[in-house]
Amino acid sequence: MLDSEYHESGCYINITFTDTQIMGLTLFNSLGKTKQPFEPKNDDEVTVYCCGPTVYDYAHIGNLRTFLFEDVLIRYLELKGYKVKFVMNITDVDDKTIRAAKNSNSTLKEYTNRFTSEFFKDLQSLNVKEATEYPRATDYIKDIESHIMKLQSEEYCYERDGSYYYSINKFSKYGSLSGLEINNEKNRTRLNEDEYTKDNAQDFALWKAWDKDDGDVYWEGKLGKGRPGWHIECSVMSTKILGEEIDIHAGGVDLIFPHHENEIAQTEAVTNKKFVRYWIHSEHLIVEGKKMSKSEGNFFTLRDLIDKGYDAKNIRFLLISSHYRSQLNFTFDGINQAKENINRIQEIYSKIIEGKPKTGRDANISSITKESKKAFEEALDDDLDMPVALASIFKFVRDMNKYLETNQVLEENKLEITDYFETIDKVLGILSDKTIELDDDVRSLIEQRDEARIKKDWKKSDEIREELLKKGFIVEDTKEGTRIKRK
Ligand code: AMP
Ligand code: ZN
Repeated sequence: MLDSEYHESGCYINITFTDTQIMGLTLFNSLGKTKQPFEPKNDDEVTVYCCGPTVYDYAHIGNLRTFLFEDVLIRYLELKGYKVKFVMNITDVDDKTIRAAKNSNSTLKEYTNRFTSEFFKDLQSLNVKEATEYPRATDYIKDIESHIMKLQSEEYCYERDGSYYYSINKFSKYGSLSGLEINNEKNRTRLNEDEYTKDNAQDFALWKAWDKDDGDVYWEGKLGKGRPGWHIECSVMSTKILGEEIDIHAGGVDLIFPHHENEIAQTEAVTNKKFVRYWIHSEHLIVEGKKMSKSEGNFFTLRDLIDKGYDAKNIRFLLISSHYRSQLNFTFDGINQAKENINRIQEIYSKIIEGKPKTGRDANISSITKESKKAFEEALDDDLDMPVALASIFKFVRDMNKYLETNQVLEENKLEITDYFETIDKVLGILSDKTIELDDDVRSLIEQRDEARIKKDWKKSDEIREELLKKGFIVEDTKEGTRIKRK
């Protein structure tokens, strides 16, 4: 990753991000509930595990808010120079997937494959960076069985009627993430009929014995005929792929309890090591002030919004704009506002990159650019404070617009400003048309038109403008020279 700095010799030198730049990031750790300096276990690689979707339906925009937050986290770690190994699981077996597959007369595999690929399409439309791996729970059944057997041999697990349960009283640290006091009477969930089989109401299933509702969904191995519980899937896939000690584990706030609490209990009971260094949780999305629900008619998937004519890029921007630890109130006005905000950034960026600058450098603009980049990184260093980071970008946009009213950007400033926009966009992922691909034909037409204008041959200049328009390009004559935009 390169950063250019002005050197006393008068040239620009390229410097790489140094260790000092890697320092500085603090993250709010749900384990301990404080902002903590980010120190990964190994200097050279950060391991991140995010709980992925349960593929029984399309992801809704609340899920997507969480996945987009995680994308910002990964992108920022990479911007800071970390090599990131990022795993997101696909939950492709649970009550909901089994029921939905049955209702649609498909096999579990056919059904979950369909919604897994729809999920990937959503991620692509939203410009989410691909994870290193997307493991599916059903590919890890043998490892899950072995893990449960280890828990059983250490007496953290007991069997009842073919199902296996985790005995939370055996794990002394149970409750350390969520703050739940297990022996507090108030916190005891009431037992329903079939839960009488468990020793303790809060013990949870590691393996569920086959039931007729499961149809042909079962595995028959060391634990007998059945299928895994949800929590054990994540303990096994994360440690199998990323190792026994993971740097960051993320998800929405609803996963703190019981899912992540249970993941800690299942994993640490076997490894005797601290499972995760930083637990990061993002707040929920609500719609027009209300919890999203199908019955309220305020439940949206990405395709619902695209069908209404909204652009995925604007939706991405809206969903990443608020602080991840605040609830996000989704509104349609919010998408329109996001569109305007992207346009403000895109317009100034296009003006700068398409201009033909004179040589030289304005020291004041250099310093504004450098300060703005610093402000952006400082805001994100502070527990990924996106609202503050965005405020610094809009201040820069205002400053540049003001400057361009009476000045032209000089060559060396153009390099610095381009680097600034490329840097912020490594995290935001919203700027497009960074370079407009012009073929030789179009290039030659632009040159001929420029020549015609120098000769004040306005008729020819207008004809070429029309010809370019037919090819899908809009020509603008600006102080900086000819600008080309896509129609
Ligand atoms: P699921 O597919 O239900 O397992 O959820 C996938 C991810 O979306 C998890 O990290 C959840 O915590 C998160 N999530 C669920 N509902 C919301 C919501 N309304 N807002 C934000 N994130 C959510
Ligand atoms: Zn999980």
